[in-house]
Amino acid sequence: MSQAKDHNNTALMEKIVSLCKRRGIIFQSSEIYGGLNGFWDYGPLGAELKRNLRDAWWRTMTREREDVVGLDATIIMHPSIWKASGHVDTFCDMMVDCKTCKGRFRADHIGGISCPQKPSKCVADCAGEKTEPRPFNLMFQTYVGPIISEENVAYLRPETAQAIFAQYKNVLDSSRVKVPFGICQIGKAFRNEITPRNYTFRSREFEQMELEFFIKPDEAIEIIHGVVAQWSEGADISEPRANWGWEMWHRYWVEERTRFYESIGLTRDHLDYHWQTPDELAHYARACVDILFKFPFGTEELEGIAARGDFDLSQHSDFVGKYQDFFDEELKAAAAKLTDEEKQVLMTKKLAEAEEKTRKLAAKDQREASEDEITGAKAKMQTWCERLFKGFYIPHVIEPSAGLDRLALAILCAAFQEEEKEDINGKKEMRTYLRFHPRVAPTKIGIYPLLKNKPELVAKAREVYRMLKSDLNCFYDETAAIGRRYARQDEVGTPFGVTIDFETLGENAPELLDTVTVRERDSGAQSRVPLSELRAFLLARMQ
Ligand code: ATP
Repeated sequence: MSQAKDHNNTALMEKIVSLCKRRGIIFQSSEIYGGLNGFWDYGPLGAELKRNLRDAWWRTMTREREDVVGLDATIIMHPSIWKASGHVDTFCDMMVDCKTCKGRFRADHIGGISCPQKPSKCVADCAGEKTEPRPFNLMFQTYVGPIISEENVAYLRPETAQAIFAQYKNVLDSSRVKVPFGICQIGKAFRNEITPRNYTFRSREFEQMELEFFIKPDEAIEIIHGVVAQWSEGADISEPRANWGWEMWHRYWVEERTRFYESIGLTRDHLDYHWQTPDELAHYARACVDILFKFPFGTEELEGIAARGDFDLSQHSDFVGKYQDFFDEELKAAAAKLTDEEKQVLMTKKLAEAEEKTRKLAAKDQREASEDEITGAKAKMQTWCERLFKGFYIPHVIEPSAGLDRLALAILCAAFQEEEKEDINGKKEMRTYLRFHPRVAPTKIGIYPLLKNKPELVAKAREVYRMLKSDLNCFYDETAAIGRRYARQDEVGTPFGVTIDFETLGENAPELLDTVTVRERDSGAQSRVPLSELRAFLLARMQ
């Protein structure tokens, strides 16, 4: 990024931050006590914005789908969940201290050791000598019960996903769902980030919106359908098909999530994609794509969509000693038709894969896999194959995982507009407004009587407010000149203004009795709408 561009982007970010504070969108947490680094509060308009985003996600991900159900789990869960998931042992960032400025940094955020895929992550730092990188676990710890002891340690969840895996069996047993299906959840997550920064982008308390979409392993698809539909450029992924393998599902969810962003005003131009390279992928993941947003401070992750294999449910199966699996009637029936030879071919292939995977994992630790490890992995795979032939498998998972606060920030950055315009005296002034998609705008309609000292206008405007407020978040405003009132609502992104004037009362032009002026935020265009049609007119423009 050139220096001038960098400067402009910093200035842009400052304007957004200042607008958010001034208009009650985002405040620093505990500000009266000097704030707390990495924690943010949402003011009246921010709370509405977040609620709209949350509702849009929930509606798209579950209400509008037959194959996804919701969950609302606790923040503190049994600590073994985090042992099984790997978070206790490996949910760490590498941290370095600067011996000169005493700053503490994430090693991959410092120029020189930054990730080449995401160079914008580099932060300016003094050139002081750094300590060796050392792991720092990001989970916040607490104690459950009155005794502060090792046995009572618990964690604030660092992600919402694990609750979904832990409740997978309960949801399966209590709901009429069959693989492929998903469970989604929205909720708070906590990470003791080493360097929270870029406003709300990297916070220590934030909200996630996650879906675990459970699919059949490719081997089950092959047994049932004979062949697994594989991804190739141009493949039709608009509607799920029964013979899809994991790659098709993964691509499908990347597209679905992109469509969701478009539906709330983030166009494809705002977005980018980072496909993780084999080196970046977690050992259990088959693929992972980050959907990135072009923030003023750099192109950064908004959402990760990972194909996680059966890692999570397998881990929980091992830890609780009970298969977190699915019985698939169709698979059982299809497997019963396989010849012994066909079964043997599949088994041989899977055992070879198990051996190779064990060797590769050991090689990552720069050692050779022992015979015991290989025998153990093969025995486990043999059991897996035998259970598969009986119709049982642990489902694989595609996980679209998004951050609500990051999304709110992206929406704010995309919406922020400045335009130079002339006032009626020809004086140039800057018009600032938020170009929110009506679906997510915190306030949908401004309602204005033309004059506040005309009781008939005020009474009519109040009537309009009462008529609309149960369906649409409205803001009634009778103070200041009408132009000022428009500008105030434009600045917080209210998409429509409704003005009640003398024509509404039938004065001047009797044919305009009971009509109002509807003004559109972005173009300033005005139209005359009969009161009897107003509600439907506005509702139609909210989608
Ligand atoms: P990053 O690389 O930015 O630290 P991550 O890859 O660790 O993120 P995930 O664990 O995949 O993130 O979490 C899923 C989503 O949760 C992210 O895409 C992001 O939107 C959100 N998220 C993660 N960490 C934070 C945070 N500290 N503050 C705000 N949102 C976050």
